[in-house]
Amino acid sequence: MALVVQKFGGTSVADAGKIKAAAAKAIARHAAGDQVVVVVSAMGHQTDILVDLARQISERPNAREMDMLLSTGEQVSVALFAMAIQAAGHKAVSLTGAQIGIRTDSTHTKARIQSISTDHVRKLLADGAIVIAAGFQGIDQNGNITTLGRGGSDTTAVALAAVLEADVCEIYTDVDGIYTTDPRMLPEARRLASISYDEMLELASLGAGVMHSRSIEFAKKFGVPVLVRSSFKDVPGTLILSAEQATPRPASGVALAKDEARITLENVPDQPGSSHALFSRLAASGIAVDMIVQNVGQGGRADISFTVPADDLAEALDLSRAVATTLAAAGVSHDGELAKVSVVGVGMASAEGVAGRMFTALAREGINVRMITTSEIKISALVDRKDGPAAVQAVHRAFGLEAETVDGAADAGIVKPEKSSPLEVVRRLEGMEDLAVEDCILDASQALVTFTELPDTPGVAADVFEELGRAGLFVDMIVQSHPRDGRAELSFTVPAERRDRATDVARTIAAARGATVADVPHVAKLSITGVGIRSHAGVADRLFKPLADEGINIDLVSTSEVRLNVIVAAEHGQKSLAVLRKAFGV
Ligand code: ADP
Ligand code: ASP
Ligand code: MG
Repeated sequence: MALVVQKFGGTSVADAGKIKAAAAKAIARHAAGDQVVVVVSAMGHQTDILVDLARQISERPNAREMDMLLSTGEQVSVALFAMAIQAAGHKAVSLTGAQIGIRTDSTHTKARIQSISTDHVRKLLADGAIVIAAGFQGIDQNGNITTLGRGGSDTTAVALAAVLEADVCEIYTDVDGIYTTDPRMLPEARRLASISYDEMLELASLGAGVMHSRSIEFAKKFGVPVLVRSSFKDVPGTLILSAEQATPRPASGVALAKDEARITLENVPDQPGSSHALFSRLAASGIAVDMIVQNVGQGGRADISFTVPADDLAEALDLSRAVATTLAAAGVSHDGELAKVSVVGVGMASAEGVAGRMFTALAREGINVRMITTSEIKISALVDRKDGPAAVQAVHRAFGLEAETVDGAADAGIVKPEKSSPLEVVRRLEGMEDLAVEDCILDASQALVTFTELPDTPGVAADVFEELGRAGLFVDMIVQSHPRDGRAELSFTVPAERRDRATDVARTIAAARGATVADVPHVAKLSITGVGIRSHAGVADRLFKPLADEGINIDLVSTSEVRLNVIVAAEHGQKSLAVLRKAFGV
């Protein structure tokens, strides 16, 4: 007998007929001898309707009351779902988040799960009932209703699957699996038979709305196999599983975050502590920053740029202006009309020329790249919002993602890890959804090459990385600053033993473009690995502070959901490692 969690999204329970059809799926599973927990979203666009109603009453509705309101959507659907099962002659019990015992913190409208009690659910299952759990909601320590953030029912489902040690968590939705990019935006996208947790985590957090990214944090941390499939068509779907079980590809998918904003603090004194001053203020307000780019700067001053979701722009701008004044920065600029296109693949780290392919594709479309950051498994480029869809298509084609056929049936591949295999670190966490840091490592094998004064025209990054690719150079980290006065700065790391070659190639490119090149033969790269690194506001800051306290300056930063990388001077490598190990408790 297996234990299965089935989650039905809004479109899958949009009307009475659809609720009955979904209920039939749960009944069939139960009749086959399995224990079934169903997690349900609000019907159709009910949550949007409630948000809209609140806005008609107040411009800034109180967050606690917002949660009280929004949680009603799921309460309606669980009751109807349970009735549908009962009407078909089977046992079912509906439960709210509070009734299950989903305890969260008190961050209304984006609460994180701390613990889930399983006693009540297990007893009902043992009694032969199908348990219908309300998605997206919980209760804080004072008994207030909380919600997990839009799309949060996925997170409820995977978290329940984790604590119940379910054999699989099935996500029923209006697409028949995970595609190489949003099939609504690009019809030539194709379905993947499987994808790794890390790739899905990145894609979801970089804009693929098909899964709530926090649900994948749970899946990875607790080793829950997740199967995404259609509510309406009986096709295999996509299995989300561990990297060892997934096929490594240079590119698995492309995501677009449509509403991004960039803020730049100009001419900030380039000294330890400046970044900390800024990012600690943002973290304290719960704003998760994404791309962070600090250019080398001149005369002891540098620009610090970062991106936030456009919704957070106003608040982030207020905070940035206040910090800019304290730091005596020259000013603050911003752009709220941007989008971020990212390509994700676990095989990227061992494939050459990936960056060249991406930037050449964008250049061919005449798309100007505003900022670049990379991690081991993704490359993100900031572009003008109007260029977003064309950028996705160009990058998707550049990696041939439209061409391959779907390999195999997902159902065939479900392998539940031996005992649900939570990472060792999970045991040290206080709350289930706390940031899980696995390790901190030092790589002293790389050199840093930096272009300054590169003209801000489409195709520059393409030229650079095509040329480096032709020279057979393997590029690791890439960071391109936000251009100022028509000139940008572009840094990348290569293996130290290839530094001469890399610098030669870079000088040739620079000469043709009126740019200059500087290089550092040996730098130290420190990486913090774990789960949920970018989505937990304040992780970047936990890194800036201890380094600043030791007087260590950071040259480059890149963030992803599973890794945070920084480059510091080689002589600070060992010291930085010790400091960071202590700061992150590893
Ligand atoms: P639900 O209401 O079931 O939770 P969502 O609307 O949250 O469904 O998610 C499903 C939608 O996600 C799809 O209709 C699709 O347009 C969108 N989507 C975005 N990126 C992807 C992707 N890479 N693969 C599949 N669907 C995607
Ligand atoms: N009903 C909530 C929303 O629309 C949660 C969910 O559907 O996952 O955001
Ligand atoms: Mg959803």
